[in-house]
Amino acid sequence: MKNKIIITGGTGYIGSHTAVEFINEGFEVIIVDNLSNSDISVLDSIKSITGVKPTFENIDLTDKNKTSIFFESNKDAVGLINFAAFKAVGESVKMPLQYYHNNLNILLNVLEGMNRFGIRNLIFSSSATVYGLPDCFPLNENSTTKRPTSPYGNTKKIGEEIIEDFSKASINFKAISLRYFNPIGAHSSGNLGETPTGIPNNLMPFITQTALGLRDELKIFGNDYKTKDGTAVRDYIHVVDLAKAHVLALQRLIRNEVLENFEIFNIGTGIGYSVLDVIASFEKTTKQKLNYSFASKREGDVPILYASTSKAKEELNWNPILTLDDMTESSWEWEKKRNS
Ligand code: NAD
Ligand code: UDP
Repeated sequence: MKNKIIITGGTGYIGSHTAVEFINEGFEVIIVDNLSNSDISVLDSIKSITGVKPTFENIDLTDKNKTSIFFESNKDAVGLINFAAFKAVGESVKMPLQYYHNNLNILLNVLEGMNRFGIRNLIFSSSATVYGLPDCFPLNENSTTKRPTSPYGNTKKIGEEIIEDFSKASINFKAISLRYFNPIGAHSSGNLGETPTGIPNNLMPFITQTALGLRDELKIFGNDYKTKDGTAVRDYIHVVDLAKAHVLALQRLIRNEVLENFEIFNIGTGIGYSVLDVIASFEKTTKQKLNYSFASKREGDVPILYASTSKAKEELNWNPILTLDDMTESSWEWEKKRNS
């Protein structure tokens, strides 16, 4: 019999890529999502890649009662990956209560459901944002966490603290928090990718939409950072490599290979690329000329952010293999396909 796993937020960007990797590894996948930031057609896209359409439940996970009923009928699951959350940094600054309400109630309801019905293994989607404004690099898992610059980021920091407390109080429960750096890219089939609503806040979709003529030009936020070319440096990670890290992390929990009941791993490549590096890669791989200009720094942006990924490499046996060129090229293929 297949191992059954629950993926909350599984029709979203990272969740859908992760569903594909779990199905490919022989797991039975149950997706729970309220489609507040994703589309039901993603299920067919997953089927087009894997041959399997995952079971889907449309549930708002802030609804305690419905979430509990869902857990009761899926108590044979071996684990849960919690992607479901609101994720727009800027929006969270304007609507903090909605962000705290959604992201923290989802987590509490999921933990209560797991606790009540005996599901022991949790993977939590965290973020490099928990390091706040860091002062030294590369960031490893023992680097000091600081208050994140946005309410969204704070839901990740508080979320980790809630999980850590619960893992100490519960004998059987184990969790791994994966701190993503900058996920970009799309599935090589061209059938899955990121679908931001409205004007994208993030660099990669803004680049692909500008190249396609949907936006006039990319504004590069800041060109006098103390970096090699003055533009800000980030650790971009291909979404498919990121998805594979979830499979390895859940297997570590299932096989009880953990050293502690709550573990944390950075998930990035460990390589910092500037905004101009990303544009150069995009122009090279797609043969597109990108319209861009320099603008002032974006409030809250840090000059440099990249990970030490040695813990994930050594303990999870996870090695990202896809390059920046793979990331920019696949993002472009996805953007063209979804607008065709
Ligand atoms: P996404 O918005 O594409 O996916 C999140 C999914 O959660 C969506 O399908 C949405 O409909 C669902 N959802 C939201 N609220 C819900 C609710 N109340 N009940 C049920 N479903 C709900 O986002 P993503 O980029 O795939 O991110 C996945 C996770 O990774 C999130 O927790 C996000 O905070 C985290 N993360 C993302 C990034 C990034 O750059 N994309 C970086 C770090 C961490
Ligand atoms: N960026 C930019 N123009 C944009 C969007 C982003 O110059 O329209 C820069 C941003 O300042 C940061 C990098 O691109 O240095 C990555 O930004 P993104 O919002 O994708 O991720 P973040 O690192 O902020 O989470």
